[in-house]
Amino acid sequence: MAFNIAIDGPAGAGKSTVAKALAARMGYVYVDTGAMYRAMAYFFLQKEIGKEDESAIIGAVDGADVTIRYENGTQQVFLNGENVTGFLRTEEVGNMASQTSVYPAVRKKLVALQQKLAKTTDVIMDGRDIGTCVLPDAQVKIYLTASTQTRAKRRFDELLAKGEMPDLKQIEADIKERDYRDMHREMSPLMQADDALLVDSSGLSVDEVVARIAAIVDERAGREP
Ligand code: C5P
Repeated sequence: MAFNIAIDGPAGAGKSTVAKALAARMGYVYVDTGAMYRAMAYFFLQKEIGKEDESAIIGAVDGADVTIRYENGTQQVFLNGENVTGFLRTEEVGNMASQTSVYPAVRKKLVALQQKLAKTTDVIMDGRDIGTCVLPDAQVKIYLTASTQTRAKRRFDELLAKGEMPDLKQIEADIKERDYRDMHREMSPLMQADDALLVDSSGLSVDEVVARIAAIVDERAGREP
């Protein structure tokens, strides 16, 4: 049976940075499930389907073939054969993903893909519902969070480094809105699984968070640190 590590938590908690570093350290495959919801959202945006038009979304889901491949150990997301990885990390796509991930038709399709991947491969999978719904039997479950202010500042610095002119207040408001939506949706809302360990990354460096989670994984896997 494959060894599965689930990392859930709100936007900007550092899940992907930490999961990537852990995967490299342990030789596991990193699966970024947010990128799959983003690819689906990108598809709806291209088709000019409104985020509230559930029947159009249900009708369109089957036309979106989302697959992932690994190139030099990095996840690449393909939408109907086209590599769309470079288009997914914008605020527009992120907000659309948050709004369209509430639909069961979208979730069912992507959860099936995620479960298939984790069945045969040792993975570190991050998202919102991995420990609670996608991989309920994962050997290690982490709920990674940080204060809203910390998460907004990280996103702000990231955009600044990309040469953009971000607005900290707006980023904070967007994060709060996304948290609320992710935590209150009907199907698989974001929450800490009963058997997940809480790690708060506010005030910790990436290396400190990675070391903390690696120690938990080693203990669970029965390895010496
Ligand atoms: O993590 P990321 O910001 O890329 O995710 C984009 C959106 O996709 C989230 O705000 C969330 O609504 C949705 N998502 C989800 N379940 C996951 C991963 C992401 O609902 N497992």
